[in-house]
Amino acid sequence: MKKNDTFQLEITDLGIGGEGIGKYEGMTFFVKGALPGDRIVAGVTKLKKTYGYARVVEIIEPSPNRREAVCPVSGKCGGCQIMEMDYAAQLRFKQQKVADDLVRIGGFAPDKVAAVMQPIIGMEEPYHFRNKAQYPVQEDAEGNPVAGFYALRSHRVIEHENCYLGVEVNEQILTIVKDYMRANRVSAYDETTGKGLIRHVLIRVGFTSKEVMVCLVINGSTLPVAGALVEALQQVEGMTSISVNSNTRRDNVILGNVTKTLWGADYITDSIGGVQFQIQPRSFYQVNPVQTEKLYGKALEYANLTGEETVWDLYCGIGTISLFLAKKAKMVYGVEIVPEAIEDAKRNAALNHITNARFYVGKAEEVLPEYYEQGSIHGERILEADATLKSPDVIVVDPPRKGCDEMCLSTMLRMAPKRIVYVSCDPATLARDLKILCAEDYQLEAVTPVDQFCHSMHVECVVLMSKADT
Ligand code: SAH
Repeated sequence: MKKNDTFQLEITDLGIGGEGIGKYEGMTFFVKGALPGDRIVAGVTKLKKTYGYARVVEIIEPSPNRREAVCPVSGKCGGCQIMEMDYAAQLRFKQQKVADDLVRIGGFAPDKVAAVMQPIIGMEEPYHFRNKAQYPVQEDAEGNPVAGFYALRSHRVIEHENCYLGVEVNEQILTIVKDYMRANRVSAYDETTGKGLIRHVLIRVGFTSKEVMVCLVINGSTLPVAGALVEALQQVEGMTSISVNSNTRRDNVILGNVTKTLWGADYITDSIGGVQFQIQPRSFYQVNPVQTEKLYGKALEYANLTGEETVWDLYCGIGTISLFLAKKAKMVYGVEIVPEAIEDAKRNAALNHITNARFYVGKAEEVLPEYYEQGSIHGERILEADATLKSPDVIVVDPPRKGCDEMCLSTMLRMAPKRIVYVSCDPATLARDLKILCAEDYQLEAVTPVDQFCHSMHVECVVLMSKADT
């Protein structure tokens, strides 16, 4: 076999990037745009020893789960990888992926996995759910500003202003920004030369509060004729905060360190399950508020709090889960590596008059052992006289994709809480960590996948483990 050869291929699985996978004469082929159940004519684009890449030359028989993507740039934009898969099939696929990883990586028996797996929580309306959008701005060949999305694996902007995952107001805001740029001859940033001003338009919308934030990321420190832009943006319903963020670096990180508010508040306020959060342009905040409420609700259900419990919330971010749980617990301790997030967490606790939550900056794998061994955090005595606090009732973890550090897991086991609730955004590292946590004292009780990122390959999960002798 060689490049450009064509052959018939049955697609049987999806790879981590959403590409179709099929086997042919002992070789594994990865095919962008193909779905499990498709029978295609594949054209070889690249060959390695045991695997290769191919493109779809023709779909001979489409998968029963294939349908027209609602979005005109599906397949071009890098955002949604599996939009051409029927939503119910997406959910089935994600559910199965979690179960497979628990068996393959976690080493759990298939019967056990079948017994603990709960049905995935999907969205009723899997569109227009994102509360945050970051549109790159570039100039087209005629020098007109365009806003949209980066093409897959590139930094070329595809014009597209009403993404199906985002909210309607995004398009209105982008039109205002582009009109302002044209009228005042304000340039868009050019990555290749490092010249030009407007890099990104960051938009955030509070789904509960209806407050709107716009932050222009600029390659400089001031925005010319800013008053004209502010005046136009103020007309947008719900506009609460207009700011510029200065980023003169030539890397891929969107936001710089300095944000100046041009008009209104420095933040918007939104709430999840009755807890209010102030969100600044740089704050981390879950992007799918409808599903986040279900996710945190499940975590709260699994924590099974009566008001008497001590709870640790590791990897707590701006304290969203901590504050959600604090209402039902005696005391919550949150740990997070990013200092600004901990400042947000403390501010949000005060905003909600929550006094039974304490927050600490640091790595979970360092803060937890110091607490367990010395009763202190960063040298500050925490434990007072009550040694029983060493063994909290519940530990919640919500780590980034790489999962928990081994030191964090082993300290959790030594602390021996009654229940462990693991919120995960990567089933593979989740399964790896559950293998360690459930090796001896803990029972895997329930696993609920939650679809936070519809049309993408990502799966979020909430897991309950309980100590065997309680
Ligand atoms: N629970 C929060 C945030 C989860 S995202 C929410 O639902 O909003 C994971 C968080 O872990 C991020 O805020 C990240 O900054 C933090 N983090 C990453 N590595 C860490 C570590 N080693 N120790 C503590 N926090 C860490």
